This record gives sequence, C-alpha cells and structure tokens, in this order.
Amino acid sequence: MNDATKVSCKLCNKSFNIGSKSEIENHMIIDHQLDYYRYYEYSKVSERSYCTNCGAPLVKMTPWSSNLVHLCSKCSDAQSRRSEVIISINEWFEYLTNSHFGRIWILNDQYRDWIVDFDLKNKVDPFIKTFIQKKIDKLNLFDLSFEEGSPKVLSPSNRSSILITESRFNIQKSELALIEGRYYEFTTGKSQFRLYLPEVDQSNLSHYKSYDVMNLSGTSQVKKLRVNQVGVLKLYEFVTGIYSIFRLEKDGVQVMATELSDYELSYVKMFIFSNKHLMRFLKLTLISLVKSSSIVYDRVFFLNRFNYDEASSNPVLLLGWTLPDLVLSPTSSNVSITLL
Ligand SMILES: [Zn+2]
Ligand SMILES: [Zn+2]
Repeated sequence: MNDATKVSCKLCNKSFNIGSKSEIENHMIIDHQLDYYRYYEYSKVSERSYCTNCGAPLVKMTPWSSNLVHLCSKCSDAQSRRSEVIISINEWFEYLTNSHFGRIWILNDQYRDWIVDFDLKNKVDPFIKTFIQKKIDKLNLFDLSFEEGSPKVLSPSNRSSILITESRFNIQKSELALIEGRYYEFTTGKSQFRLYLPEVDQSNLSHYKSYDVMNLSGTSQVKKLRVNQVGVLKLYEFVTGIYSIFRLEKDGVQVMATELSDYELSYVKMFIFSNKHLMRFLKLTLISLVKSSSIVYDRVFFLNRFNYDEASSNPVLLLGWTLPDLVLSPTSSNVSITLL
C-alpha cells in the first residue's frame, strides 16, 4: 500500500505529496508545534504506535509522550475514543502536576529545542534526575544552560556540558494560597501580580445554552462555561471574540498578557503550573472545553492538535496562553480561548 510519492506524518498520519515541503512545514508548525528540523529529529527517535487489532498506525495526543495515543478509528467506536481522550488528559495533567520536571519542559520552548528524546516522562526526566545531587527547589526548579562552546543538547553523551543553576523564579509557597476565594497574589521581585479566577455565576441557568461559549449560535454577548465540580464560569473578553479564563493585574492595574515582558510572562506561567489547585481547575476546564469540541488546537498543555469528535458539528477549539498563540484567526466555526 506504500505510495512512493506520499509521506505520512508520524504524529497524525496525514499524508502529503513528497514535493510539497511547504505544506508539510506548515502542517508541523500549526498542528504539532514542531518546525521541520524538529520533526526530522522526532522521526529519528520516535516509534510509531500501531493498532494491535488491525495494525493501522495510531495518532498521538502529543509529540512529547510515547504512550498517549488515540484509539484506532477503525476498531473502536466514537464513544470509546472520546473517553480515551479524557483519560489521556487526566494522565497528562497527572504528569504535569506531580512529576518533578514536567512543567519545565512544557513551559519552555527553548529547553524543548535542546531535547533529543521526545518522551519527557520516560526518557528526559530520568536522565535529568541523575544530575540532581543536592536538594532542589521543588517549586521553582532550576535553570539549564551549557558550558560555553559546547553543543546545546540534553542527552547523556553531552552530560559534562550541561549546567544546572538556581532558578530565575522565586515563587513562595505562601503565594500559592487563594485570597478571598478570588485571586492569587505573587511578586516577581519588581512587580506585584494578581491573578483573578473567573467569577462563578450563581444566577439562574435556565438559559445557559445562549451563554455557552462553545455554542456557536449562542445569542448572548457574555460567554460562560459550565465546568464539572466548579460551576458556571463567566469568561473574560478583553479582545472581541476571544475569551480568557484568567484576568491579570500588575501593580494594581489590569494588564494584557501581551504587555508583559518575556520574563514576566514566563513567571506567570510558572506560577500557574506550580499551583496544584490551579492545575486541577485548568484540567477540569480543559475537559469541559474539549467535550464540546470536534478538534482541539492546544498550544498550552499537549502542544498538539488532537481530535475529540471529528465527525461532530461541534466547534474547533483554539486554545493558547495569549493572543499570539492562537494558530488560526477566529472564525464562525471555531472558538478561541486564552488562559491570560
Ligand atoms: Zn501530523
Ligand atoms: Zn485497528
């Protein structure tokens, strides 16, 4: 069945004409957040997963884990595949929240560029663990760099060049507590930040459908999202048609994430990913969003495009940290959500 003029993507099986390099490049960046060079590296080390029943290649949930794959679309029904996606979300959050280093790789694209094994949990973490001699700062972790002039590669063969130094961040344990049930407060050294949760709507929900952010024909300007175990959230709308989960204040003034310096934005991201309550909240929110979607472009957690229910008429979900992360522009058939 091999067609010599076609190549198929190792992550999602989409096939391309061999000559269409720019098409493949676009696909890698938009769907999998890998540039062509990184995809080439990925192809060298990653094993394809195959259906044990029919042998068809399976689709991966993320390039950064070897064991999170979609069930075979020929040998399973849509319901089982949807359940499997939710199981994968739970598993991935378990890794991001409770492993030593998971969040450091997901939050830092430069560090990811140095990784040669694309399996964070089973390859990269055990290798990094062999370095950690003394007690590390479990909250802020560490910074990584290399001896001058050495290759920037996080692999055992380059071990002697890798430098682990104190983290630039200085999150305090006391800052992880929610204040007045509404916000978190932390300082980056220069500035004080407040991160506000979305308000939980206590009002009568008989017209929820007209407010539902995932309902493309909803009539209300205000958009809400029902999240299991949390309630109905009122989403923020700082830019027309794009809904945000959190609201940020810097030194008492509301700011857009796009106004922050790279350091400040990294700090806020690290704060969120280091806070187990916030991670649980985000997991439940993601599950709720995904369940009303057909296809998900996730630039925050899985760094990949994945399907929940491709055949359904549900909207395509575009999920990013901030505005520039949204891969496609908002249209009438997708829903754009940012964290900040
Ligand atoms: Zn692909
Ligand atoms: Zn199969």
